[in-house]
Amino acid sequence: MNFSDLILEWYDKNKRDLPWRKSKDPYKIWISEIILQQTKISQGTKYYLNFLKKFPNLKSLANSSENEVLLSWQGLGYYSRARNLHKSAKKIYFELENTFPKKYESLLKLKGIGDYTASAISSICFNEKNAVLDGNVYRILARYFLIDKPINASPSKKYFRKIAQDLIPNKRCGDYNQAIMDYSSMICKPVDPKCNICIFSKNCKANLFSMTMDYPKKLSKNKNRFIYYDYVIFEQGGKNLIQKINSGLWLNMYQFPVFQSYSCISLIDLKGMIYKKFKVSSYNIELINENFINHKLTHLQIQSRFWKISDTPKIKGGLYVDNFEKYPMSRLMHKFFEKYDYKLSLISL
Ligand code: SF4
Repeated sequence: MNFSDLILEWYDKNKRDLPWRKSKDPYKIWISEIILQQTKISQGTKYYLNFLKKFPNLKSLANSSENEVLLSWQGLGYYSRARNLHKSAKKIYFELENTFPKKYESLLKLKGIGDYTASAISSICFNEKNAVLDGNVYRILARYFLIDKPINASPSKKYFRKIAQDLIPNKRCGDYNQAIMDYSSMICKPVDPKCNICIFSKNCKANLFSMTMDYPKKLSKNKNRFIYYDYVIFEQGGKNLIQKINSGLWLNMYQFPVFQSYSCISLIDLKGMIYKKFKVSSYNIELINENFINHKLTHLQIQSRFWKISDTPKIKGGLYVDNFEKYPMSRLMHKFFEKYDYKLSLISL
């Protein structure tokens, strides 16, 4: 049996029972693929089920507001995924007359759909022969064929893509794509691959040369940069000021006003920045978290402090609220709420 027959045979016996596998509806597959980018299956499954409950079809997603979509996405991170999902749902529903694109090339034209997602949707839903390439696929191919090209260097992609495309069978393309990702994540794991029970152990070069942990190769990247966020919580009559974010990662979500810097600033500097931005100079200020609240993004670590400010005139340019639930906020904001029970302290005011 060849590579694809073996892996499909394994898949038929061992595939995971996941809710999106019960359907070939491109809307559901699309939602699952977008949620599962950068998200573990256990967490993603909960979000997938809740998301479909709230937006069971394209029509409901296209007719919703961005705020509602972001609220459902809250806690998952990488919020551009949710914004793009919403934009593309509108495009398919209103401009493409509710007809989901079937072809890889047409899928690529939608916002938020790249090579991986277009391959996944076109193969799973429409049996188009497009091999997916994710971290799992890179790993098993690099080990099986002992490929020295670093998987995180863009020129390598073409090389791996050709190999992946040569392996995909003509039939059951979608099953094969899911099979190779499942197999690699369950058997050809990043650490401690289960070579002793692997169906490829006799042909896998990395196993034959006892070099499994040397593959895949990666270029080393710069260490994480640190950035410092000072959130200021203006308080008035038991309500706090929040502002809508108008650019960047958390676009259209909400947060307390924030000052960003590349080093940890002193209180005097912070007061200077507060004056410059809000024209207030006389108030009480108190640091709520003695230790930084850390938040890791792909190549960036945010170290944040939260300052409570009272006795100021009302600040313009935001909303004073006593309940944050209707406002989508970043995981970093929620870390603060959870750690300092902040919502509860507001309610008790
Ligand atoms: S033999 Fe080991 S390294 Fe090779 S494909 Fe199987 S699990 Fe992966």
